[in-house]
Amino acid sequence: MSVLARIFSRRIITAIPQPEEPVRARVKLGKCKIDEFELGTILGTGSFGRVYLASRKASKEVFAIKVLSKALIINQKQISHLKSEKEILQKIDFPFIVNLVGYSQDSNYVYLIMDYVCGGEFFTYLRNMRSFDEDTARFYAAQVLVIFEYLHSMDIIYRDLKPENILLDDKGNIKLADFGFAKKIDRRTYTLCGTPDYLAPEIILGKGHGKPVDWWAFGVLIYEMMAGCAPFYDNDPMATYQKILSGKLVFPASFSRSAKDLIRKLLTAELSKRLGCLKGGVDDIKNHSWFANVNWENIMKRRESPPIRPKTEGPDDTSNFEDYSNLEPLKEDELVLTKEEENLFRDL
Ligand code: AMP
Repeated sequence: MSVLARIFSRRIITAIPQPEEPVRARVKLGKCKIDEFELGTILGTGSFGRVYLASRKASKEVFAIKVLSKALIINQKQISHLKSEKEILQKIDFPFIVNLVGYSQDSNYVYLIMDYVCGGEFFTYLRNMRSFDEDTARFYAAQVLVIFEYLHSMDIIYRDLKPENILLDDKGNIKLADFGFAKKIDRRTYTLCGTPDYLAPEIILGKGHGKPVDWWAFGVLIYEMMAGCAPFYDNDPMATYQKILSGKLVFPASFSRSAKDLIRKLLTAELSKRLGCLKGGVDDIKNHSWFANVNWENIMKRRESPPIRPKTEGPDDTSNFEDYSNLEPLKEDELVLTKEEENLFRDL
């Protein structure tokens, strides 16, 4: 994880896509008491905690609860990222983004209560299938595109696109998760964050960055979906950075001419030439020949049937997630915070 950044982002003025109707009304509980919930199976682990399947004792409704260790957050200086994650998730409401239902905290942990997304990680499907054909890749790329269109319209940059952060719902539509690096920006920002394979050159060069980094990462994702590995992959992150800066792209023979053209235009180091960052904004990407047969209204209204349909048996089925049953339970008594440290979480 991580690196530097800064660059100037241009304002992209586009119509904000609006879904016709939500799949189901989004539950919003706001501030909760964590003992209203019963934590169950571990669904996943992140850098600062774990995500559990949980049920609300009163209603038996199922949720996913991200449990973040305050001590780890302080140690790794991630308090502002945590606040930003919570604030942004509270503000946004979009069908392809995980819904934050509520939040809570106690002396050791912060809890983010979300809708449970039962289809599992997109990453697992991609690794199992090794790579996707172009139609499959295009379907998911179209959903990611409208997510970025929505976020950017609110001046929010996501900054951590990668298959690991994409979940699939029961029907196979995308739910983008993990807003730990998302940020509301004015012009540009300098924080070092992201995942090496997906970093734009302006982040590596520490020039500051803005919305264009998401379009760069979008190009990397399309490549990874179709090739099975990221375009600048290397075991050693320093070598990855060098490859990113060299700008040399090698495409598998299977890529269509139009896919190569789109990826090249997204993976353009010069911001004044990167697709998505020009005068036409996101429409330049939507109108690219690779998306020629995509009906953007159908994408927004989820009228297209997803290429992968997760197998699920009921709303609390966790069979699409890895088995973490051998993980040690969290040890609360090891986490002792000073009064000063505790105060950092007061306004959460
Ligand atoms: P995160 O720390 O947000 O990256 O979450 C770590 C892992 O927990 C993810 O990779 C998913 O496997 C799982 N996860 C996170 N949020 C949810 C959710 N709302 N529903 C189901 N699983 C989730």
